[in-house]
Amino acid sequence: MNLVILGPQGSGKGTQAEKLAQKFDLEHIDMGKFLREVAVLGSPLGKEIHEIINVRKELVDDKILKKVLHLKLQDLSREKGIIFDGVPRKQDQLEYFEAAMVEFGRHIDKIIYIKLSEKESVERISKRRICDKCKKVYIFGRDIEREDEKCLDCNGNIIHRIDDTPEGVKKRLGIFETETMPIVEYYKKQGKTIEISGGQGVEKVFEDILGELGDIE
Ligand SMILES: [Zn+2]
Repeated sequence: MNLVILGPQGSGKGTQAEKLAQKFDLEHIDMGKFLREVAVLGSPLGKEIHEIINVRKELVDDKILKKVLHLKLQDLSREKGIIFDGVPRKQDQLEYFEAAMVEFGRHIDKIIYIKLSEKESVERISKRRICDKCKKVYIFGRDIEREDEKCLDCNGNIIHRIDDTPEGVKKRLGIFETETMPIVEYYKKQGKTIEISGGQGVEKVFEDILGELGDIE
């Protein structure tokens, strides 16, 4: 089973991806996380990524994303299913993503699109904090009580990202709308998109996803 999960900021897609990975023994491919893993390797590609994301603090381009996707798929047993978390997120990525699927003998079964209103997204993100080292996400008032708590996983500093403001969230929601929604629509035309309401508790969202996935294996 190969799945893609997409959703706007604050939709909780990372959490759901993790739960699905556990339930169905899938490889959870979070490109941001994988890029950080490759960046610490001494390989030429690792050094290149380190330079971009850690030194220049920029986003990697599609050429690098494509290489990294290949690297990941190459290492994975073909029997192992995958949940892609937040990729492909735009039209340019769709082509090489689909090509890589074909090359590695895979096909996408379902796209899980977690919907969330702008109001809910803004509310959730304003409570979000993030570890500045391992990028683990914490919800203020739920996971942490004080602003100076340390990351449970790596003891890094938990910060409120500067662009996690209502304006920042709205800007990113606009990008999701123009860049990512065409991907959701593309798979919808193939009958592969399932829409889930993200404005519910984590367990209810998960239950809805399982219900919609039904009996695909
Ligand atoms: Zn951490």
